[in-house]
Formats: sequence, C-alpha cells, structure tokens
Amino acid sequence: MTYILEAKGLNTYYGRSHILFDVGLSVAPGQTVCLMGRNGAGKTTTMRSIMGLSPSRSGQVLFKGRDLTRMPAYKRARLGLGFVPEDRRILAPFTVRENLSLGRIPGRTGGWNMEHVLEEFPLLVHLLDRLGGSLSGGEQQMLTIARALMGNPEVLLLDEPTEGLAPVVVSVLKELVMNLKESRTTILLSEQNIRFAEAVSDQVVVIDKGHVVFAGSIQQFREEKAIHKKYLAV
Ligand code: ATP
Repeated sequence: MTYILEAKGLNTYYGRSHILFDVGLSVAPGQTVCLMGRNGAGKTTTMRSIMGLSPSRSGQVLFKGRDLTRMPAYKRARLGLGFVPEDRRILAPFTVRENLSLGRIPGRTGGWNMEHVLEEFPLLVHLLDRLGGSLSGGEQQMLTIARALMGNPEVLLLDEPTEGLAPVVVSVLKELVMNLKESRTTILLSEQNIRFAEAVSDQVVVIDKGHVVFAGSIQQFREEKAIHKKYLAV
C-alpha cells in the first residue's frame, strides 16, 4: 500500500518532558484515520509534530514519500498539509470573508475557492460580513475548516473538531466530513467522541501516554472492547 502521509518513530518533547514515544501512523490516500485517546494522551502533539509546529526530536514524517522531518511548518502547509487546530484560531477582528481569504496559500490551487467553499458551508454565506470574534463555537469550527480548505490541502488534519459543540452542530459536522470523504479528501482526525469517530473513520490509532496502543481498521476497533475500556472510557 502506498501512503500519502506517514509518521515513523516520533519522539517529541516539551522542554524536558518526553511526550511522544516512537509514535507511528500511516494514512492512505482518500482515507480518514482517527487518533483517539484520553485528554493529554498526545493527540494534539502528534498532529503538531506532523505539521512541524512541535518538531519531533527523532523519527520521520513522510508526505508522498518525501521526508519533511526538517522542514518548517509553513513549507509543509505549502506542500499540502492543512491543519485545523483544536483552539480554532479565528482572527476575531477580521470578517468571515477575510478569514476565508487568509486561508489561501500562495502557489496552491485546486478545487477549493470561495465559491466552492460557500457551497459546502452554506451556513457561512449569511455570515460573510460578520466579525470572526462574534461567531458561535459551531460557526467558528465551520469557518476554521472552510479556511483550511481554501488552501487546497491534500491532507486535512482536524484536531478534535467536535469539542465543545452541541449535538446538532456535531451532526452538521459529521455530514460535512462525510462529504469531504466522498470527494476523496484524505483526513487525519483526532477525536474523543467515539460515535463521531466511528461514523467517519476508516482506520483508528489509539494513543495512551504518548504510546500507540492500538492501530487497525474501524471494524477491528469496534470489536476491541477491551481497548475502549482501558484507554478511552472516561
Ligand atoms: P487533549 O484531548 O486534552 O487535547 P491530547 O491527547 O491532544 O489531549 P496533548 O495536548 O498532545 O494531548 O498533550 C500531551 C501531553 O503533553 C500532556 O501531558 C500535556 O500536559 C503535555 N503538554 C501539552 N502541551 C504542552 C506544552 N506546551 N508544554 C508542556 N507540556 C505540554
């Protein structure tokens, strides 16, 4: 199998704290791979290491076979890795339209432009002139995903997109991710909402205290009740 994105043996530290221990994962083109694990397990750090925002001290990140390990984050974004961070990072004093325009990445073109993004996110059409800071949590989440798509990423990294959202907004998000999957967008997701993760994922990687403790298909994950209990139960 050829993978579009691979992480191998990542060891990442914050100062002296060793956070990721030989973390590895592989994402095939068009698939959705979900990172699961409790709060503090290392999901965000894995995404940040893949993006180059918290570079790993050892290990490798490969994108379409190319070694990105020593590359700064902005170059990884230019190559096609799009990151939607957990804290959303909406630019509060800018309008929704401006926030979307800021998602464009020089040199990256493709199917996603303002028109297509607004078709996929009709909710944003009526909000275009509103300031980013005035949006609800759900609206902000839609905006950050839409903004990342404006950069025409080849792989979209979505860090806990459902966090803090009302169930009705989670349903909208689920439909959106399903649409992205249908258009063969490759997604690396991090999620604690098991139902959401099961609905949209092809593969699951469970992390516990910075170690990968399970990696397999969604079917294998469903059958591994012991994994649920041991590493995911609250
Ligand atoms: P959550 O679901 O709570 O976001 P997570 O699985 O994404 O959790 P990480 O955010 O990757 O976990 O955190 C992994 C570990 O690294 C935690 O123990 C956390 O306290 C620690 N950590 C995260 N950021 C920093 C930082 N900037 N400095 C020091 N330690 C950090």
